[in-house]
Amino acid sequence: MVNRARRRARTVLAAVPAPYPWSLDNWVDRLEQHRGRPIDLVEMVYTPGGPVGAWRARPDRDLIIYAVNTSLVHQDFVALHEIAHMLCGHRGRCLISPEQAARHAPDLGEAALEHLFGRATTDEEELEAETMATALLSAATTPPAIDPAATDEAARRARRAMEVFG
Ligand SMILES: [Zn+2]
Repeated sequence: MVNRARRRARTVLAAVPAPYPWSLDNWVDRLEQHRGRPIDLVEMVYTPGGPVGAWRARPDRDLIIYAVNTSLVHQDFVALHEIAHMLCGHRGRCLISPEQAARHAPDLGEAALEHLFGRATTDEEELEAETMATALLSAATTPPAIDPAATDEAARRARRAMEVFG
């Protein structure tokens, strides 16, 4: 299941690569084009005891709701976690455990980490969303690898320029 979630993350990233520098808005714009279905990022203000994020499937669009009065990394993590539920087609009630969220957002208190959704969910769905969100966030924050072919081409051009002008 963990491997399936990682595979899913790789498949999504192959179709919709993470922009560098990372921008959630930019990535979600391209993700919605890729899926052919609008995704609205909806900001909300977290209040203690309330949810930090949720996904709502509407007939014509998906709503990804996330708290904005937390660190940027945590906002992105919550949004990606909800996007992962959406991409996996989960139908459950989403609960991020304090331990899970604290790994990604150590600056948040436990009270901030409750996370509500409509229906009952399975631990398996949570683990899948969590694994996928972690893989997505990791890709989002890793600089792209240098393409050796592009580097060779640039070096060849530079050498030729030296020959012409040197
Ligand atoms: Zn969840």
